[in-house]
Parts: sequence; structure tokens; C-alpha cells
Amino acid sequence: MEISFAREVGMLRRGKGEVFEGEGILAITKGLLEAGVAYVGGYQGAPVSHLLDVMVQAKPYLAELGVHVVACANEASAAAMLGASIHYPLRGAVTWKSIVGTNVAADALSNLSSPGVTGGVLIVVGEDYGEGASVIQERTLAYALKSSLLFLDPRPELAHMVRFVEEAFTLSEAANLPAILQLRIRACHVRGRFDCRDNVAPPFSARHPIEEPAPFDYARLAHPPVTFLQEKRKVDERLPAARQRIVERKLNETFAGKRDDLGIVVLGGLYNTLVRALAHLGLADAFGASTLPILALNVVHPLVPDEIVGFCAGKRAVLVVEEGTPEFVEQAMLAILRRANAPTHLEGKGPLPAAGEYTVEVLARGLLDFLGRHAPELPLDTGRTWLDGVAKRRDEVAKALATPLPARPPQFCIGCPERPVFAAMKLARETIGPVHVAADIGCHSFATFEPFHQGHSILGYGMSLASRAGVSPAMRKRAMAIMGDGGFWHNGVVTGVQSALFNGDDAVLVIMKNGYTSATGTQEILSTPNESAKVAADDKGRSTVEANRTIENTLEGLGVRWMRTVPSYHVDEMRATLEEAFTTDFAGLKVIIAEGECQLERQRRVKPWRAKLEREGKRSVRVKYGVDEDTCSGDHSCIRLSGCPTLSVKDSGDPLKVDPVATVLDGCVGCGLCGENAHAATLCPSFYRAEVVQNPGWGERLVDALRRPVMRWLQAA
Ligand code: SF4
Ligand code: SF4
Repeated sequence: MEISFAREVGMLRRGKGEVFEGEGILAITKGLLEAGVAYVGGYQGAPVSHLLDVMVQAKPYLAELGVHVVACANEASAAAMLGASIHYPLRGAVTWKSIVGTNVAADALSNLSSPGVTGGVLIVVGEDYGEGASVIQERTLAYALKSSLLFLDPRPELAHMVRFVEEAFTLSEAANLPAILQLRIRACHVRGRFDCRDNVAPPFSARHPIEEPAPFDYARLAHPPVTFLQEKRKVDERLPAARQRIVERKLNETFAGKRDDLGIVVLGGLYNTLVRALAHLGLADAFGASTLPILALNVVHPLVPDEIVGFCAGKRAVLVVEEGTPEFVEQAMLAILRRANAPTHLEGKGPLPAAGEYTVEVLARGLLDFLGRHAPELPLDTGRTWLDGVAKRRDEVAKALATPLPARPPQFCIGCPERPVFAAMKLARETIGPVHVAADIGCHSFATFEPFHQGHSILGYGMSLASRAGVSPAMRKRAMAIMGDGGFWHNGVVTGVQSALFNGDDAVLVIMKNGYTSATGTQEILSTPNESAKVAADDKGRSTVEANRTIENTLEGLGVRWMRTVPSYHVDEMRATLEEAFTTDFAGLKVIIAEGECQLERQRRVKPWRAKLEREGKRSVRVKYGVDEDTCSGDHSCIRLSGCPTLSVKDSGDPLKVDPVATVLDGCVGCGLCGENAHAATLCPSFYRAEVVQNPGWGERLVDALRRPVMRWLQAA
């Protein structure tokens, strides 16, 4: 990864007497070190990638403390790593994006939770739910409920969040249960400050190793018959121990209100949004002083029945603020109140929607509905006026736009090496016809948008080849799976390749070998080229990723007999290879490796390198493509084939040419796709390739001086 987190690593070093300022997710990272974590692992994914990225770059400092950091192959391997805390008093933390990551980790989580833990275990999940989310809209809480994991959802305020890292570890140790700490997107990015504490070196580590392994203890295995006893212990001992500690440490917070006949129970992570909504209704100030009492559940599982009953006592009605479906907390509270014969009326879903993020506006509408019925005497006109104003502004904007704005789906980066592969597929379809395409998680899933529209299904990260296994036998034509190198190592090599080979499947697999898990932030993987390979390749203007052949060697070792490696930008060669894969008599698995480094990562490296050359007065060359507008016919087939955001249109300036002509904007990185497409699809010859030379040599200056008058003469003629 070419991004430096040196500033963040510096923040991690701060100690007592110093102040931390920054984002929530980095505060959690610091909190782990203050809590004496012994090992950290995880798999990257928004919104928690930052935790692992920073920890990986902080390895030298963490080694001083004795903290061990692992960039895991996937979430399952991260969860399995937590097994270290079953026997040993080691505090461990892992992180991933949820719900998807928790799905992958589920097996290990069950097997961890059943025997329970000795050292505290913390799973920091980035709950990717609501507006801006990139995954299926489900909730991690479901896993906590089924596996008896502790589930914390702290109020998004930095000092509070950091306190809850320590609290989560001690709660986990008190109950012998692993703890999940949920952070929504907004909580990860909330900014603030807190007073640092000194980082704590773990008692056991590479610096202070454990002398002897723990004695054999069958009760620590998730294996029958002890699993039956473990289930009982969860119910009889561990969850009660957790409830006791939640009460003792006052982990859930009650904020008193001016009136006591109504109340709100909110999951801690939604507290800030709730207070903002109340403020818009004139029922709270900016600091949270509220008309209505609020119970903020910083620990959502297990609930403490006495706390719930105590809060509801004397209240006519209580609103539960809990995003998503099912309404686990609302249902649990209904059962708790019914068992206690408490008369409080409970509402949640109804005033509040069953699906989607609870934004300030959504909460304000739900509160107006709830309070309009239960406290009609409250002056709520401020809130109604505000909501009407929001709706009015939205209408005005809609009316101001004579035609709606075009949708702006996410796109491949400029010069992305994956775009040419889909252009080649488009061209290959002219020969082989449409085929079933099993898509995958990764940047290549952008090909499901315009102008490619390729991909019938997405079943999980690295699951494309496996997901076409049921389709292939039912199809006259071969089915194709697309996978990134990130997905290949995450899951695809086992669930897809191994299974297809074992079952003798006749299928086509395209692997995008761009050298990184690009979609998650260009983290490095087993097939990332090393630094010297990158420097050598850049110097020669070659693809860096061809230097690492781990994927090819793995596939050969597994027994793949039909494999082609094609440079991504060679559109014509890629088209011919795809056609061959779909028409060859070879009936086994056919793998095409599309080789081209992630352009985003490449530009992060090349731009500073080029700038340095220029600063030092040395020669540097930047390639740029352009369109000769006199030649452009204006049919825009180049745009439909490429989709590059820098390939745009402009007025021709020629009254006889009414259609706008194609043009290349300044962002062009000179990837070469425009020229390749023009050649492969026999487009009009309007593209030209230019080299912008900075600090040219005397020979180049001389040639330039001779060329200029000739060109001027030709243009005049
Ligand atoms: S991050 Fe890399 S692989 Fe992803 S779209 Fe951008 S250039 Fe392509
Ligand atoms: S050469 Fe074409 S496809 Fe490549 S970056 Fe430039 S405009 Fe985009």
C-alpha cells in the first residue's frame, strides 16, 4: 500500500498528559493499546480498514510493546485467531466489515463462544448499514444473540468509545464470553478528542513468552459431549455474570428528562442522532439535556431485565429506537415487561420504519408520530416546521431540475486495468453471444453498471466460481466467473477453484490480477509484487504484477491445465483468449489471468516519483491520449466501449457536424485503452497518443525546434 499512516502511528504513541484528536476508528485503535491488547488481527473493509491499516504500519512500535499484528487471509482466519484467548490470559482484538465479514467468521465465532474465553476478546465490527452502505442490509446483532456473544454499541463520543474498549475486555473476562463492539459508519468517522493514557504492554507476548502450554482440558473444546455443558454454562453462569457487571459498571446510561411519564430507549450508537432529532423538535439542547428521559443501551446483549423494568416504571409509553429488522430489542423488551407485569406501552416499529437508516429526519418524523399520540400537549410546531422546510426544499430542488440529474453509479478509476477486460468481453460477445456471468465482490463488480452491464449474480467475496456450479450444467454455453486476486485468496481458491477441479467442471474463470485488494483500500496480498519488483517494472514501463506468480503457481499446483496470462490492456489479445476459452474442446476449468496493476495504487507511487524527477530537473514523460476532433465521427462507440470518465464529449465547433465529438479530459493517465479499443473494435482513427516530456534532453529540444516550423507550414498549407 502506497499510503503512509505515519501521522496516525504517531498518535498511537501518545501517553498520559497528552491529547488524542481524530476519528473514532483511530481512537478505538489507541484504546486497544491502552487496554493492553496482546494480539490484533482482522480483514480490511470499510468502515474499519483504518484500524488494521494503521496497526500494520505501526508494527515496529507494536513490536516494542510486544503486540502481535496479523493481516489475516479472511475474517474466518481472524476469528480463529481469537482461539489464543481460550486458554491463555491474552487480550485479543480483531476487526472486519459486517455483516459480510461476520458471515465469513461465523463458524469460528460459534466454536469460540461455546467453550468461552479466559483473556478478553474484542471483535470490532464496522456495521455497514444504512445510507452509503455497500453490503447487504442485515444486522450483526443476530449473531450475538444466537452465539451468546456480548454486544456493545457505545455512544459515539471518543472518550466514551475508548472507555468501552477497556470495559469490553473486562466484561468479556468477567463473563468468559467474546465481545462484539459495533461501530456504525458515522461512529467510525466521528471526530473528537480525549485524554490519552499510557499504552500497556501485554503481560505475555513475544517479549515475555508463556513458558508452558496450558494443560489439556477437554472442557475447553467445542466438541460433544462438553458442548451440552457449555450451552448450560452460557445460560446459567456467563450471561448472568455479564448482566451483573453491566449493572456494577453502569455500562448502560440513563439520562434524566424533565418529564417522567414517557421515555426513549435507544441503542448507544444512535444516541447522537436521537439527540439531534429531539433538538429539532425543541425537546433537547445541543448537549443532550432532554425533555424526555433516555436509556442509552451501550450494551445491547445481554439486556438487563431489571434495568429495563426500572426505566419503564411509572412511564405510560416508551419508544424503542433500534434500526433494522427484526426488532430484536423491542421484542425482548416486550417479553421482559410482560413477564414483570409492567403496564408500560411500548412502541418502536410503527412510528419508526422497519428498514433503512435512522437519520435525524427519520427519527424526527417517528418522534412526532409517537409524541403526537402520547403527549399532544407538547409544543412540537418547531419540529413540524423544520420537517416541512426539509420536504419543501426537496420539492424545490426536484422542480428546479427540468429533467432529473443522471444517475452517477460508482465507476472504475481512470485507467483501471479491469475496464479493458470488460471491453474485450463486450467485443467477444459479438462472436460467442451472451453468456452467464457470475460476478464477485471487488472493483470488477463496477462492470455491472454502464456501459458494461455484465454480471448475473454476486454471492459473496471469492464466491463467483462456486456460484456458477449449479448454472453450468443447465446452460448450452459455458458459464463464466470473474474474480479479483483479493477474492481468490480470500475464498475463491478453495470454494471455487478446488471444487471446480474436483468435480471436473467445464467453466471459464477470469482472475483480475491487479496486485492488491483494491476495493478495500489497496491492501497487500500474497500476490503483491515486492518493492524492488515495482521499481524495476516502473523503470521499464512494464506491469509490476507480472513479477509475482504466486497465483499462477498455485493454480498449476492444484492441477489447472488450461491457463492463459494476458496483459489487461491488450484488448484484442484478451478478446481472442476469451473466444478461445468459450470454444476450445478442452472440457475442464479454463483460467484467464488478466494482468495489470491497480491504477490507483500505481498512480500513488508514480506521481510523486515523477514530481521528484521534475523537481530535480531530470527528464520525465507523461503519456496522454487525445481525440482529433476533425476525424471524430461523433458516433461515440469509443465511449460505449470504454466507460473511462475522462473520455467525454464536447461541441465540435463545426456547424456541419451537429453531434458532439469525443474528447479526452485532463485526467487521462495514458493507460492506452483508448488506442487498444480503437484497434480491437476497428473504430475511427481519431485517437492519438502524446508524450508530454518535462526537462527534455538537448537532442529532443533540437528535434522540437526543427519540427515546429515544419508543422506550422503544414498547418498553414
Ligand atoms: S482501485 Fe484499482 S482496481 Fe479498483 S477501480 Fe481503481 S484502478 Fe481499478
Ligand atoms: S487512455 Fe483512454 S481509457 Fe486510458 S485513461 Fe486515457 S482516456 Fe481513459
